[in-house]
Amino acid sequence: MTQANLIGHFIDGQIQHTGERHSDVFNPALGEVTARVALASRQTVDEAVAAAKAAFPAWSERSALQRSRILFKFKELLDKHHQELAALITAEHGKVLSDAMGEVTRGIEIVEFACGAPHLLKTAYTDNIGGGIDNWNMRQALGVCAGITPFNFPVMVPLWMIPMALATGNTFVLKPSERDPSASLLMADLLKQAGLPDGVFNVVQGDKDAVDALLQHPDVEAVSFVGSTPIAEYIYQEGTRRGKRVQALGGAKNHMIVMPDANLEQAADALIGAAYGSAGERCMAISIAVAVGDTGNALIEKLLPRIDRLRIRNGTDPEADMGPLVTAQHKAKVEGYIARGVEEGARLIVDGRDLKVPGAENGFFVGATLFDGVGTEMTIYREEIFGPVLGIVRVPDFATAVALINAHEFGNGVSCFTSDGGVARAFARAIKVGMVGINVPIPVPMAWHSFGGWKRSLFGDHHAYGEEGIRFYTRYKSVMQRWPDSIAKGPEFSMPTAK
Ligand code: NAD
Repeated sequence: MTQANLIGHFIDGQIQHTGERHSDVFNPALGEVTARVALASRQTVDEAVAAAKAAFPAWSERSALQRSRILFKFKELLDKHHQELAALITAEHGKVLSDAMGEVTRGIEIVEFACGAPHLLKTAYTDNIGGGIDNWNMRQALGVCAGITPFNFPVMVPLWMIPMALATGNTFVLKPSERDPSASLLMADLLKQAGLPDGVFNVVQGDKDAVDALLQHPDVEAVSFVGSTPIAEYIYQEGTRRGKRVQALGGAKNHMIVMPDANLEQAADALIGAAYGSAGERCMAISIAVAVGDTGNALIEKLLPRIDRLRIRNGTDPEADMGPLVTAQHKAKVEGYIARGVEEGARLIVDGRDLKVPGAENGFFVGATLFDGVGTEMTIYREEIFGPVLGIVRVPDFATAVALINAHEFGNGVSCFTSDGGVARAFARAIKVGMVGINVPIPVPMAWHSFGGWKRSLFGDHHAYGEEGIRFYTRYKSVMQRWPDSIAKGPEFSMPTAK
């Protein structure tokens, strides 16, 4: 392994390689180690937080417009390096290149939104609330904010946080996933090229040690987390008990209801993309199809030829529909779930285990897998598999479908395919899930809306980006002002009221 294959930190505007612990980074399609990433010690985290703290006063004092101009340049550089970022994602995550390009686009959209910070930070003003007094609000930056991100979107999820935090005047320390760390350093370099002052944005690579050091650091004011539910809950509890502001987005088990009046061709196309795209490693992937009435058999008939046609290859192949899973351990875990589904009595219609991809025999591939007769008590129904495994649950009617979704522990995304407007409206109103699709399988809100689930898919009060993101990264202040010539003589002892 040469120096070039060592992935370091980015602190105070410089790449740092320290003699710390390291972890292997793989190309999942080839099953080969391609680099080693540093795992930050507490001392390295302290250095990054200190750099961010030192940069905060000057950065937060800049006008919102000046900060936005830097983000504008960052956006241009992201456009210019779009392919390069996508190639890094495919090389370390495994998803197909076209999907990685889409991921970068969705990230850029948040930068575009954050460029509107001067407008977004505008607040309310009331002239003359009484007695010559005016009242207005401010939204002020918090200070040093930390982001801890998952492996499945190494560009998009950090970009849910970085532009929002920086546009609002905060400084930032990112702790990306140790499985696909390279894109974070390219983004750090692009921010520097865009003119971001050193220390405003920092990256510490690492694992639980780095995360714990950030959670325990007294100078970290807020933590944004995206990842699995047990870790999200841990981050939320550890952060909030230290008085930090925390938004922690967790795991998912997303259902898609297929009503008898749905266009089944469209529903089957939607299910194939949403269940098997990115090998099911999306928090918005559909992993359960809820077939209402007698749609089950017809749906399976439509799904089988589509599964047959899936091209599962190295993500660099322009023809590929689906790539490998991220690591050998994750592949073993997903295969374990498939075995468990069989043991617990689900009917395995398509088995993706033992798939060999020509030219990529050592890759971490699992083929598209389909279960019918999935019951709500089964492990494959209750738990997030995070692989290309779709289960079909059959229910007699719409009310039963809604009730079972509402009873699930997770509430990230959901979808309903129907041609009945009344059903669609009732579904949108009754469902206890944060992101709802009607004839849309993966309803990821646009940059100026906000992203987040309900129940154990999100801990905290704020969803990510959009208006909720502005609120999360700013503290609200309300100011009242009057001047000597409007102040009445003498002290007042009763509750002030408008006069
Ligand atoms: P993960 O929870 O294993 O890791 C997420 C981050 O936490 C990483 O940076 C990791 O280094 C760190 N981490 C891991 N173990 C830790 C520990 N014990 N203590 C402290 N930090 C720890 O998640 P992942 O496998 O990288 O990503 C997949 C998960 O993320 C899935 O559950 C998926 O649903 C979820 N996800 C959710 C959303 C959402 O918006 N709700 C979006 C993307 C991914």
